[in-house]
Amino acid sequence: MGCGQSAPKHGLLRFVLREGRLEADPDARLPGRGAYLHHDEACAREAVRRRGFERSLRTTVRLPDDLLESLS
Ligand SMILES: [Zn+2]
Repeated sequence: MGCGQSAPKHGLLRFVLREGRLEADPDARLPGRGAYLHHDEACAREAVRRRGFERSLRTTVRLPDDLLESLS
C-alpha cells in the first residue's frame, strides 16, 4: 500500500491498530493485523491521501498526529 511501488527503497515499516488508533510497530512485535508502508514520508502522505490504511486494515483508522514526523 502507500505509493504502490513494490521495490522498497527505504524498507518497510509495520503499523497496527491499537484501540482504533494507528501505531507504528518498527520491531513487528505487536499483535493484530498489520499494514506495511515504506519507511518514507512521501509514501505515508500518499497512503493517507488514498486512505490506504483504512483499505488495508478494513476499518476506520485514527491517524496519530505525529505520523508523518515519525517517518521523516
Ligand atoms: Zn512507498
